[in-house]
Amino acid sequence: MTRTLISQTPSLIGQSVTLKGWVDTKRDHSKVVFIDLRDRSEKVQCVGFGEMSKIRELTTESVVEIIGNVKERGGKNVNPDLPTGTIEIEITDYKILNLAKELPITLDTDGKDIGEEPRLKHRYLDLRRARMQKNIRLRSDFIQAMRATLVEQEFVDIETPMLTQSTKEGARDFIVPSRFQPGKFYALPQSPQQYKQLLMTAGFERYFQFARCIRDEDLRADRGFEFTQLDLEMSFVDRDEVMKTVEDVVKTSVKAVGGQLKDEQFPVFTYDQAIEQFGADKFDLRTDEEKKAGLLSFAWVVNFPFFKKVNKDDAAEVEDGKSGWTFTHNPFSAPQDEFLQDHLDGKSLDKILTTQYDLVCNGYEAGGGSIRAHDPKVLRATFKNMGYSDSEIEESVGHMIRAFEVGTPPHGGIALGIERLIMVLAGESSLKEVVAFPMTSTGRTAVMSAPNKVESKLLKELGLEIKD
Ligand code: ASP
Repeated sequence: MTRTLISQTPSLIGQSVTLKGWVDTKRDHSKVVFIDLRDRSEKVQCVGFGEMSKIRELTTESVVEIIGNVKERGGKNVNPDLPTGTIEIEITDYKILNLAKELPITLDTDGKDIGEEPRLKHRYLDLRRARMQKNIRLRSDFIQAMRATLVEQEFVDIETPMLTQSTKEGARDFIVPSRFQPGKFYALPQSPQQYKQLLMTAGFERYFQFARCIRDEDLRADRGFEFTQLDLEMSFVDRDEVMKTVEDVVKTSVKAVGGQLKDEQFPVFTYDQAIEQFGADKFDLRTDEEKKAGLLSFAWVVNFPFFKKVNKDDAAEVEDGKSGWTFTHNPFSAPQDEFLQDHLDGKSLDKILTTQYDLVCNGYEAGGGSIRAHDPKVLRATFKNMGYSDSEIEESVGHMIRAFEVGTPPHGGIALGIERLIMVLAGESSLKEVVAFPMTSTGRTAVMSAPNKVESKLLKELGLEIKD
C-alpha cells in the first residue's frame, strides 16, 4: 500500500492507511498502547489494542511502518493542540523498519539545556527536534525565495572553483597540498570575489551564487571556519542601483518566509554618522517592543574609509599592509570619485572614502559589497598604497589587471551572510542553530572528528613531512 503522509490523515476518516515515521512518544497502559507517530509533515496518535498492544516493543525514535484505520475521536478525546487531534489511527498491523537503542541525548526539549559537544556529536539526532527542523527548513525556504527573486531579475547562477588561489578577505587562507605538484598548494576560497568580477568581464552582467566561503579566522563561540553567502555581482550599475536591487531581493525573500520588517525602506547612515550615533558600524534600530515582536530592522552604512592603519597583532593585516596601511573592507573596491586622484597619487590615504556599502540587521553585519575598481590603474594603485612592489602586484592580482585590459564593464556587487540572516529570522542567537552540521567551538567537525592525522603514505605522495 502506498504511504500516506500524517498531515493528510484527518481527511481520511474510515479508511485504512499506511504511515511511515518515527515513534515520537509511547504511553503503555498495558491493555492499550498509544504511540505518537511523527513524519516530516505532522504527528498523529496511533492506538494498539489487544494483539496490537505488542507494539509496546517499539522504543522511542524507532522507525516503523504502521497500517491502521483512521477513526474519528469523539467529544473530549479531541486533542485541540494537534492538527490531527480530531482523529487517531487504530493499528491493524505494523513493521519495525529500524529499532532505536537508548538515545545518547534527549529530544523532547529545545536542546539548549544540552552541551555543545554531545549535541554536535549526535547532530543527526539533535536535528530531529522540532526547533532544529524548523530552522533548517526555514533556511531552505529563504534560499529558495532569494533564488526565485534573483532568477526573475535575470541573474545567472554560476559556480566558481573551490580549489583556487588566495583571494583577500582579511582572513588567513586554508590551503590544500597538490599531489601532482608536490610543494605547491591551492587556497580554499575566502569568497568568490575575483571569479565573480571575471564573470563580469565574461559578459554575464548579472551573476549570483550561494557560495561556500572558507576563512581561517580565530574561532568565536558561534562561528566556524566555513559559511555560506549569497554572492552577487552586476555590470553597468552604480552604488544606488546595487543597493536598491539587494534591498528588493532581501525584502521579497524575508516576506516570503513570514518575516516582518521594521522599515519598508532601509535607512542609510554614513560611517561617521553611525560611529557618532551608535559608537559602531553595526547597530540595532528597534525599540524594545519591536524586538519582542521579532521585527527585522535593516539599515545601510556607506562612506567607509578605504584604508586603515595595520593592526600589528593581525597576521593577515600585517601581510597585506606592507606600507603600514591596509584596506578596511575589500581591496577590489573603487574609491569614491572625488578621492580618485589622491588614490592614484597615494596621497592622504586616511581621507580616501570607498564605494563600500554594508547591510546591517538587528545589530549584526548582514552583508557588504562595493563598486569595483575596473580600471587597472586604480587596482594597481590600491596595492601600491598598501606597499606592494610591481612584482608583488603582478603575482597577486596580475590576472585581474589583464582581464581589466580586455573590455571589463564597470561593475559592483555584494555578499550577504546567509547564516546571519536566517539566525535573525529564526529568532536564534547563535549561527550554529541554523547550520545542519556546524563546527564545534574548538574547530572540530560535527559527528566526524576532523581534523585528523593522515597516513604517512599520503604525506609522502604530497611531499610533506610533519615536524613535532
Ligand atoms: N567579497 C566580499 C565578501 O565576501 C563581498 C563583496 O564585496 O561582494 O565579504
